[in-house]
This record gives sequence, structure tokens and C-alpha cells, in this order.
Amino acid sequence: LSRFVRNCLHDLKPYVPGKPIEEVKRELGLTEVIKLASNENPIGASEASKEATRKLLDNSHIYPDGNCYELKQALAQKLNISTEELIVGNGSDEIIKLLAEAFLNQGDEVIAPTPSFSEYWFAATVMNATVKGIPLKSDFTYDADAMIGAVTPKTKMMFLCSPNNPTGTYLAKTELEKILTSIPNDIVVVIDEAYFEYADAQDYPDGVQYIQDYPVVVLRTFSKIYGLAAYRVGYGVAHKDLIHYINRVREPFNVNSFAQVAAVAALADEKHVQQSKKVVEDGKALLYKAFEELGLTYIPSQANFVFVDTKKDSKQVFTKLLHRGVIIRTGDIFGQPTYIRVTFGTQKENETFIKEFREVL
Ligand code: PMP
Repeated sequence: LSRFVRNCLHDLKPYVPGKPIEEVKRELGLTEVIKLASNENPIGASEASKEATRKLLDNSHIYPDGNCYELKQALAQKLNISTEELIVGNGSDEIIKLLAEAFLNQGDEVIAPTPSFSEYWFAATVMNATVKGIPLKSDFTYDADAMIGAVTPKTKMMFLCSPNNPTGTYLAKTELEKILTSIPNDIVVVIDEAYFEYADAQDYPDGVQYIQDYPVVVLRTFSKIYGLAAYRVGYGVAHKDLIHYINRVREPFNVNSFAQVAAVAALADEKHVQQSKKVVEDGKALLYKAFEELGLTYIPSQANFVFVDTKKDSKQVFTKLLHRGVIIRTGDIFGQPTYIRVTFGTQKENETFIKEFREVL
């Protein structure tokens, strides 16, 4: 049957997310499992978000607002932009796919850092475009000159993930500006800021400030600091003309009503955001200390996870941890076979991870 399939799909490996807790419990017969594999918020959603969705249960038979009116109003106010500069998606994953659908044709080239989020490869390849992965430097920071140098007349899109998944490193303001001013202005630059709220480096730029002057699309999500991963809601910010074209390939009811009200409530609960950030800072301190005691090199992170060199085969470390009820991500999927990526959890989860990790090393 493969003859029915478009050529580009033959070599396309599906995007495989972190293993769900229930699957690990089922398969390994475990009762206690913790997941530090998908960069979720370990303290969950704000109470206000939960309350907002509960109130909506009687409206389950009504289609959602396809224009996300209330959510766009709230976002526009928070970001000091117009609602026309916003698109809301079924997670920022969907917006990555929509960007590829809207702007990529067969034979186009896309530039992305490597290692980085696999969805960029997935979305571009489905559209028959080719992705050129530009390695980060040996300390996993961006090589802006190499990204610029990779541009050819065929380049149509560039992904910049900052803070970058899986390394937690970021693209400094001067480097971003160098890229934006050096490349042709018909290349869509997607700045994926899924972990924006955790970043506190002084020279970490806010991508939104570039949308008027450059063909920049900034992606953010409610799945991380806002703790709403199950609802699937993320957004893109760009010049209104770009938003107009991305909207042409969007399904009419792509964001469900529960996601919309939960996101509006989450934006209003700054206290929960600060609390979530604090949990990550505490987790960071605890894990960094443990890695230092173990003599392991970790990459200082601007996100809610850390990339650490176990100096062992990370697949084996993963399997051993899995059998002890701890789910993490291996670095081999990112081309770094000795590294693992660990999400900062609650204090209890972090302590469990450290205890089990020490034993399996
Ligand atoms: N971008 C990056 C860099 C991510 O790590 C993730 C989540 N794994 C996403 C986008 C997608 O987030 P969501 O679809 O949940 O909004």
C-alpha cells in the first residue's frame, strides 16, 4: 500500500512524545510512577483555570468560539498588541504545522538548530520541504553565524527555539538581531518561546518586539508554566498579514472551549505563575547540586528541564529508571547518546529522581 503514500512520508519517523504514566504502570506492573519527561508543570493548573472549565461542563454540546475572542482580548492586553496579531492553536504544535502548511512548498529549505524540537522536522517534511539542521556550538549555545551561513535562495523558514528544547540554552538578543538583520526578509523566522516564562537571563530577548519590523512568528504555550498541557492550547504572535495567511489553513474550531476559558483564567492568575516558577528554581538548585556531587556535566538551563551528560548509554539509564518508576527522556533521540533530559518536578519527585538516578548510574 506504500504506493498510495506521498514520497516524503516514506522516511518520516513519527514524532514520539514522552511515555504516559498510565502506560508505564500497565506495561511494567508498577503502582508508583513519576514523569519528568515532557516539561509539564508539576503543581498543575491554577485553581481559577479548573473552576472556569467546571463551569463550562453544561455547555459541552456547543461548538467553541472559532475566533477565541475572549482569549485573544486577554492576550492582546497582556502583550500590548492587537488581536489581529494573534493566532490560537491546539497547542503550539498545531501552529508549527499550520506554519508549514501555509508557507512551505516542495523543495523549499528550512533551517533549524540541532539538537532541537523534533516537531520542526516533522512539520516541514510532511510538506515535502528539506530541513537543514545547524549544530549548536559545543557548549550547546547558538551558532548565529552558522545559521546565517546556511541560508540559500531556497530557504523559506528558520526555526529558533529559545530557550531551546532539549538543551535549555537560549539565543541572546544580539545574536537574534544579527540573524534578523542578516538574512533576506522573505524568510519566515519562527521563534519558539514555549519556555519563555522561565527565562530570566539578562540578554534574553522578547521575540514579540520584532513582529512589526521582521517576518517573525513568536510561539508560546499554555502547556508549560500555566499547567494546561491536557487542554492543548498555544498561540502565535506575528504581523497581521502573516496571521491572515496562517488563519487560512486553520480548522474553524481548532481550540476547544475548555482550553479557551482555562487559558483566560490562567493569564489572570499571576500568583500561580510565580509559584510555578519558584518550584522550577528550587528543582534546579536541587538537581544541579546532585549532578555536581556526581561529577556530571549539566547545561545551565533557562527552562523547566535540564540536559545532563550521564557519561553512560542514556538508553540504558532510561530503561533502568523506567523500571524504578521514573520516566525521563534520552538524549539519543536528540543525537546526544550519553545525555538525558529531566524536567524539574515537585521536591518529592526531584528527590525520588535523584535517589533512583544515583542507584542506576
Ligand atoms: N515547542 C517546544 C520547544 C516544546 O518543547 C513544546 C512541547 N514539548 C512545544 C513547542 C509544543 O507545546 P504545545 O503543543 O503543548 O503547546
